[in-house]
Amino acid sequence: MNKLSILNIVHDTTVDGPGFRTAIYSAGCAHQCPGCHNPQSWNINNGSLYSVDTLMDIIKADEFANVTFSGGDPFTQIEGFTELARRIKLETKKSIWCYTGYLFEQIVKSPRLSQILPYVDVIVDGRFVDALKDEDLRFRGSSNQRIIDVQKSLKKDIVVSTQHSNIFSFT
Ligand code: SF4
Repeated sequence: MNKLSILNIVHDTTVDGPGFRTAIYSAGCAHQCPGCHNPQSWNINNGSLYSVDTLMDIIKADEFANVTFSGGDPFTQIEGFTELARRIKLETKKSIWCYTGYLFEQIVKSPRLSQILPYVDVIVDGRFVDALKDEDLRFRGSSNQRIIDVQKSLKKDIVVSTQHSNIFSFT
């Protein structure tokens, strides 16, 4: 397994999902949203390389924190993050939130991108849209982004939002 290119690791953050979380910021993003808070994250070469084993040691060292994958876009390195998510679910009871610029519908339709879905609890989806930016939103930057219960959505074949119980059709 190749190493993952990681921009930053933040311990006990409270802004990337509920409770205390270890946030792993992935390098690399192809979405290039106008108004992106961190254009430096777009280049995958701007990160430092970590093995899945090393990331697991960091995650397990904090007994109480859950985990968030952010970026950049973690789906840029989907194979590595899928292996990391699989190990987290196998070896801990931690929940996983994952941010992405892709829409959930795009992920479900892609054999490559969808490989991570069995291991992720919540996906915050969609590109950042500056015109829809709202600083009062919790855990997301613009109002088009959805906080999605992944396992319920897969089971019901519709997108189930965790925050407002909104239901969106996949197609
Ligand atoms: S998906 Fe996120 S990191 Fe990527 S360009 Fe958009 S706001 Fe920036």
